[in-house]
Amino acid sequence: MDLHVLTLPGDGIGTEVTAEAVRVLRHAANKFGHKLTLTEGLLGGVAIHKTGTPFPAATEALALEADATLMGAVGLPEFDNAPPERRPEKGLLGIRKTLGVYANLRPVRAYEALIESSPLKNHLVRGTDMIIVRELTGGIYYGTPRGITGEGAEARAVNTMTYTRPEIERVTRMAFELASKRRRKVSSVDKSNVLENSQLWRKVVVEISAEYPGIELEHILVDNCAMQLVLNPRRFDVVLTENMFGDILSDEGAVLAGSIGMLPSASIGARRPNGAWVGLYEPVHGSAPDIAGQNKANPLGAIGSVAALFEYSFGLLEEAAAVNKAMEAVLNNGRVTADLKPSGTPATTSQVGEAVCEAIG
Ligand code: NAD
Repeated sequence: MDLHVLTLPGDGIGTEVTAEAVRVLRHAANKFGHKLTLTEGLLGGVAIHKTGTPFPAATEALALEADATLMGAVGLPEFDNAPPERRPEKGLLGIRKTLGVYANLRPVRAYEALIESSPLKNHLVRGTDMIIVRELTGGIYYGTPRGITGEGAEARAVNTMTYTRPEIERVTRMAFELASKRRRKVSSVDKSNVLENSQLWRKVVVEISAEYPGIELEHILVDNCAMQLVLNPRRFDVVLTENMFGDILSDEGAVLAGSIGMLPSASIGARRPNGAWVGLYEPVHGSAPDIAGQNKANPLGAIGSVAALFEYSFGLLEEAAAVNKAMEAVLNNGRVTADLKPSGTPATTSQVGEAVCEAIG
């Protein structure tokens, strides 16, 4: 298969972890006989330095040409007080908008080797393997009217939670399609006992579920879901939720896995004519200026994002599984970076990348 991937390493440890993700991508593509074409673009602080803008037109053009985009992280302390259009993070919003990615997918897995780093008791977290599907472009973060009016005792603030049927339909279909390749269960999260918005959400989810016989659907209120995530995380397979609930629940899910350096993510848009999803893949963490340039960042979140790229943008499940299995082997061997607190000398970022390639074989 021809794989055309754009890399946007960005700033700080973004460049270091992306180098290892690319090492693994090249290795796996080669092993499985794919033709890989890599292009590289500027995004974030590095783009501001070189072109004056965090999301240059050349990067936008490269993103539209590629089959999938692999990002590192953006953000440099020197821009912390810059105006919004000159902030590296503006580049992130730009690329997400260009690609039209409307669903954020965050896998949450409890790796056996990291079970002690979870804040939950081992018996609760062991075996956890879920994916949170968060609607990314609708809901209260975007709805209008919004704003603050009046002063003092007259002050009033408004936000509006809006969803349209098509917005709910497309993200629901994505959740069901993911579930059809997993353990065939969707937990749809809402607050339909209070919000009309959630009542529409539930109604549409039920209707779409009829297109997917054989996949179990449960509805769970968001407050109960927050509780179940820590009481019984194993009960979840695919968690489907709107933007703000997903923002909150996915961070709660994230802590189940141990270090932030471990967490991959995928933001997915429309399907291309060949059936693959448009996708933007990145670790959840930021540019970590405190450890940048020291070859000690954990690259497993970025490498896990390569597994997601294989799976969602190319439908290459065997390749994705090989990367995930290799990561698990590396964790089990203890060749991990300092954030995972290995018993011996911590591995460097590049040693972890090399170890994952070796484990792929
Ligand atoms: P951060 O994720 O960069 O770092 C938080 C803490 O986690 C730091 O102590 C860091 O050393 C550690 N850490 C993060 N990733 C790690 C890894 N792979 N291995 C080991 N340790 C790791 O968050 P922050 O410090 O709040 O933000 C730093 C910059 O990154 C800011 O400019 C922020 O705006 C930006 N940021 C970007 C993204 C993104 O590009 N998607 C996301 C979050 C933050």
